[in-house]
Amino acid sequence: MGLVADLRARVSGRVLADEPLGERTTLRVGGPAAALTTVEDVSDLIAVAEVCAAHSVPWLVLGRGSNLLVADAGWPGVVVELGRGFRGVEVGVDGEPGGVVAGAAEPMPVLARRVEREGLGGLAFGVAIPGSLGGAVRMNAGAHGGEMADVLRWAEVVRLARGGSVERWDLERLGPSYRHTELPADAVVVRARLDLVPTDPEQLAADMAEMKRWRRETQPINEPSCGSVFRNPPGDAAGRLIEAAGCKGYRVGGAAVSAKHANFITVSPAATAADVLAVITHVRDRVEHVHGVALRPEVVMVGFEETACQ
Ligand SMILES: Cc1cc2nc3c(=O)[nH]c(=O)nc-3n(C[C@H](O)[C@H](O)[C@H](O)COP(=O)(O)OP(=O)(O)OC[C@H]3O[C@@H](n4cnc5c(N)ncnc54)[C@H](O)[C@@H]3O)c2cc1C
Repeated sequence: MGLVADLRARVSGRVLADEPLGERTTLRVGGPAAALTTVEDVSDLIAVAEVCAAHSVPWLVLGRGSNLLVADAGWPGVVVELGRGFRGVEVGVDGEPGGVVAGAAEPMPVLARRVEREGLGGLAFGVAIPGSLGGAVRMNAGAHGGEMADVLRWAEVVRLARGGSVERWDLERLGPSYRHTELPADAVVVRARLDLVPTDPEQLAADMAEMKRWRRETQPINEPSCGSVFRNPPGDAAGRLIEAAGCKGYRVGGAAVSAKHANFITVSPAATAADVLAVITHVRDRVEHVHGVALRPEVVMVGFEETACQ
């Protein structure tokens, strides 16, 4: 049986063949996946693990695509997206007012607003992060002085390379550092437990409004991008280094370093992933030449033969 037919026979959720990935990412570039499946429960994930092993094809977990650059050639294997079965928010778990367990497919801004309504603080920064909870756990996403590691107690993961076994990783095992965790590539985050703090809802609403205002003023949030392209090097800001290296406005085809924030690359509808990669490579080389600093991408690049930038 072919890959797509096998997935359709085994997975309860949707299976699409040759599905374009660009429109599922905030950068809006990149080619198709051989197959894309929307899984609805852990048994679907186990089926995906078995089908990928049987066909010797790679998998890729897709959250909300807000930190992904997909190559123009696309992805040669199975893209796994968590469906509605992986949403849901439970508040007050274990009898703790600030105990929250949420499904990994919850969009971060939705989750941040939901806990705000419950008068729970600690996740306000999530209102400005256009990813999923699962993607935010993997990336240890953060902003405005907060990050996931501050509020995360554990993450439940399904290991695709281990036949779909379910494991609970506590914070220590997750080993979070700046925009990074020690989660192995085959670990799909399916749920996470957060420890939040009862806080005045009016204060939370005001904090969130201020974060959103700051974003609008300092970042090109109305243009397609993947947020910050490079990680900040210790003690400095990638945006400052890029601007000082004269890269603001640098363009290849439809991709350009934003004039508003130098650590953002914005794209026009005609852009290709190759354009974005060419801008990333140029910026990295210029910053190294001018400042002697080797910037490391924060954006996750998939499907490229050339991975020198990572
Ligand atoms: C305008 C804009 C602003 C942004 N601002 C910020 C910011 O302030 N701070 C910040 O940290 N980030 C920011 N980002 C980047 C991005 O939103 C975060 O990195 C986010 O956590 C990515 O989540 P996602 O669901 O979109 O993941 P994706 O982009 O879909 O995937 C990113 C990585 O996570 C993996 N992944 C996704 N879901 C799961 C899962 N369930 N289990 C295991 N692995 C998974 C993917 O395989 C991939 O390796 C911004 C992006 C944009 C476009």
